[in-house]
Amino acid sequence: MASNTNNINIRRSVNDPFYRYKMPRLISKVEGRGNGIKTALPNIVDVARALSRPPEYPTRYFGNELGAQVKADSKADKFIVNGAHDAEKLQTLLDGFIDRFVLCGSCENPETDLIITKDQMIIRRCMACGNTSDVDMRHRLTSYILKNPPPKSKKGGQHAAGGAAKSGDGSGSGGGGGSGNDLAALVGSTAQMGLSDDGSDWDCDGAVVVDDSLGGPLAQKDGGDDDSGDGGAGAEDEKDPFDQLGDFIGEGGHDDAAIFAKARELDLDSNHRALVVVIQCVLEESTTLVKDIGRHEKLLKQFGTSDKHQRAVIGGFERLISANPDALLAKTPAVLKALFDREIVSEEVLLDWGKKPSKKYVERDDAKKIHKAAQPFLEWLETAEEETESESE
Ligand SMILES: [Zn+2]
Repeated sequence: MASNTNNINIRRSVNDPFYRYKMPRLISKVEGRGNGIKTALPNIVDVARALSRPPEYPTRYFGNELGAQVKADSKADKFIVNGAHDAEKLQTLLDGFIDRFVLCGSCENPETDLIITKDQMIIRRCMACGNTSDVDMRHRLTSYILKNPPPKSKKGGQHAAGGAAKSGDGSGSGGGGGSGNDLAALVGSTAQMGLSDDGSDWDCDGAVVVDDSLGGPLAQKDGGDDDSGDGGAGAEDEKDPFDQLGDFIGEGGHDDAAIFAKARELDLDSNHRALVVVIQCVLEESTTLVKDIGRHEKLLKQFGTSDKHQRAVIGGFERLISANPDALLAKTPAVLKALFDREIVSEEVLLDWGKKPSKKYVERDDAKKIHKAAQPFLEWLETAEEETESESE
């Protein structure tokens, strides 16, 4: 690595000239213009290595904090945050990341490992003082970390100051490439997963991993459906069309009409699974989720309105909720009600979905939780149905 003059203290508040924990100063490079403007992070890999964290973590952290979409592709060495962000702003955000996800909660030493406990909590274990400290699980990045655990450091003590092992390398024991990572692994197993092994590892702003979940598992999980022939899934070296659609939405700046046009171009415009991608990528802003359903009503109906499409709409929301349960589980009844009120999903399909948790789109445990959260709405819907029936008698 280049001269030390570009190195700064990992804890920037420390002025001690002998402080030994250094990292490269973050570089940001604004590219493009207009709606396509984005910020590349050319040295985030080096910065992350100094922190002993996969580069995906700080990149996604920026996305979470800025409400911006990110692309984190270790294979292509591409780390991008949508929008224009100067290096100093990002460096300040990085301080927050370091505070929350790197420094020991007791002694503030940066030589820590992130460990996922059996009950799906993330803790920092300090190599310097031996203490463990909890990570604040309310932060959105935690759901990504749970799904993409840090590679285990093979040699103890290889940490910040000394330049840690290159994260991602040689950690691919847990399932290899994208299609091998099944949803079970994705949604919270503590198994080691190669972070950088599965190529384009972007999502729609840190909440939902799209390529894994749609390229492989969704296709498998959907295998029982009679749609095996749809859409040019056979094209060989072409990227998966669902990924392409997700990438397109992830670029940002496209309105619903453009998104649907892209879906048509990819031959996905009547494909119910495309709805799952669209929902995860377009409606990922948790604070305005219910309102956003209304804003995107047309798009949500445009792909088709068969029972299968409607079921996929619910599935897309199940995935959103399972990816960010802290913020969204409680909104389940409101989400379903909005889908019902807007006639995006019919009463019949909703009641049918409500009969029992299905792991068609999410893990069984998540499906159960979502069902439980949905009960007030389902009860309301059943009552409303009875009332309507008795009124019409
Ligand atoms: Zn410590």
